Amino acid sequence: MTKLNTYEAAVAAYEPVLGLETHIELDTNTKMFCGCATAFGAEPNTQVCPVCLALPGALPVANKAAVEATIKIGLALNCRIAEWTRFARKNYFYPDMPKNFQTSQYEEPLCEDGFVEVVVDGESHRIEIERVHLEEDTGKTLHVGGAAGRIHGATESLVDYNRAGIPLVEIVTRPIPGTGALAPEVARAYATELRDIVRSLGVSDVRMEQGSMRCDVNVSLNKPGEEWGTRTETKNVNSLRSVERSVRYEVRRQSALLDAGEKILQETRHFHEATGETSPGRSKEEATDYRYFPEPDLAVMEPSREWVEELRASLPEPPRKRRERLQAEWGLGDKEMQSVVNADAVGLIESTIAAGASASGAVKWWLGELSRRANESGVELGSLAIAPAQVAELQGMVEDGRLNDKLARQVIDGVLAGEGGPAEVAAARGLEVVSDTGALETAVDEAIAANPDVAEKIRGGKHAAAGALIGAVMKATKGQADAGTVRQIILDKLS
Ligand SMILES: [Zn+2]
Repeated sequence: MTKLNTYEAAVAAYEPVLGLETHIELDTNTKMFCGCATAFGAEPNTQVCPVCLALPGALPVANKAAVEATIKIGLALNCRIAEWTRFARKNYFYPDMPKNFQTSQYEEPLCEDGFVEVVVDGESHRIEIERVHLEEDTGKTLHVGGAAGRIHGATESLVDYNRAGIPLVEIVTRPIPGTGALAPEVARAYATELRDIVRSLGVSDVRMEQGSMRCDVNVSLNKPGEEWGTRTETKNVNSLRSVERSVRYEVRRQSALLDAGEKILQETRHFHEATGETSPGRSKEEATDYRYFPEPDLAVMEPSREWVEELRASLPEPPRKRRERLQAEWGLGDKEMQSVVNADAVGLIESTIAAGASASGAVKWWLGELSRRANESGVELGSLAIAPAQVAELQGMVEDGRLNDKLARQVIDGVLAGEGGPAEVAAARGLEVVSDTGALETAVDEAIAANPDVAEKIRGGKHAAAGALIGAVMKATKGQADAGTVRQIILDKLS
């Protein structure tokens, strides 16, 4: 059992320094150095050829669409685009990498020296980007016959090379000091901003849960005024929430070790979703261990300045500008917009409005009831089984008086349970507001008859007493009456 400090004690005594390395799979039609297809989820080893299987004599050719996408990412991150760049071999052995080296970039990355601004708690943090380079993904190894897909206890290992050679962009930050207690939130805000920027470019679907975006999160601690400490690198963190949690955990773990006078090992670590803990992986290699050298089978690349400027001119509205524009269009205050951003609901709300909902209605459902449901089940808001168009439909039914908020929440239960869209669920579960005024008048008459003293008060001018009768009618109609309508009928009858 690892001893931990409380987070508060840890950040009171130590200053965290962060660093993030993010891998993003590009959604090009073909692989990085051959013409193989890249579709996700195909039968194992059906999207392979002599080049990506590294058969003798096969020669790679760089994918122009991948180079273009990487330049766009570099430009969107305010990087300088290299005038001269080449690939390099990164040598190591792993069974899912048939060449025994990864074609990557080393001293001459495609893009360098950029930055991203993120806002946390109203405070702006500038995250410096060291480099953006292009490389290829490895295959996938599957260990079977053991527990939970682990290699320990497995009876055999299978390898699928469909992913081998899919273009991968690696985005590396410079060390990020000065975040203090906000380090976990800054790490998450950076990963979120990066994801939104890449998504806006349309070059990757950046789905962390499917692995098309994965973060390696570096954390070190030092006492104020002292040198930076030894860092650990938590590998392949695969959700925004986990980026935040992994930083928080490492700060607590490392600070306890430092307090005890122990050394932090420079190592890679694994993050465990279920417990929120990290565990040791391998000790971290130095660059020299990889015996990098320039790739002799690929030509150097010299992206023309005209091409780079053309790409710059084609960039879409940056997510930050878009958020500012939407905030004004939706009429939200800074704090409310920050909640929308934190809940990762900008795109969801935008789509809900596009499907016909009012801004206030869309914000209300996504930040209220639906955020609560997502928290309860520990999933991201966008993973809930309800589409923006269905939220718009639900809000429309509330505005038409067919549902009240209470009934709408029950309709959400049904939609999330996979029973169909809001109208379908409302019909199947019999959840519509009783709008038949004849039925409501009968229910009101019964409530008046059963509560003569209350009725007398209302006749005497005490309209506040109507609440008791409304309650009785709601009970009789199982909450399916519109309270405003019932109140009007009561007052009409008794005055
Ligand atoms: Zn291939």
